[in-house]
Amino acid sequence: MTTKKVIPMKKTSLEYAVKIAEKGTHCGMCRIDFLGTGLCPSGKKHGFLAYWPQGRMELVKHLNEGRIKPTDKLIEIAHSCTLCGICDKQCNFAT
Ligand code: SF4
Repeated sequence: MTTKKVIPMKKTSLEYAVKIAEKGTHCGMCRIDFLGTGLCPSGKKHGFLAYWPQGRMELVKHLNEGRIKPTDKLIEIAHSCTLCGICDKQCNFAT
């Protein structure tokens, strides 16, 4: 009998990001301050869905599926995340 070796995913890998995106319901509650913990600073600043956590999850999913290609704009959107963690509380609370 062989045991399957579990290889931990790097937290910065696309695979890890896809796993997180798969857990979310993509409901868009991250665009409403329903917990009183604040809103995504990037989403607030830029306004477009791609800059909100919900949009980021869609981008990761479609990147992984090869439906979209990395572009300069996509990289700019990714870099606009401040890693503040506000969305972690909101999305985990909701799901
Ligand atoms: S970590 Fe902060 S800036 Fe990045 S998507 Fe989440 S709420 Fe927005």
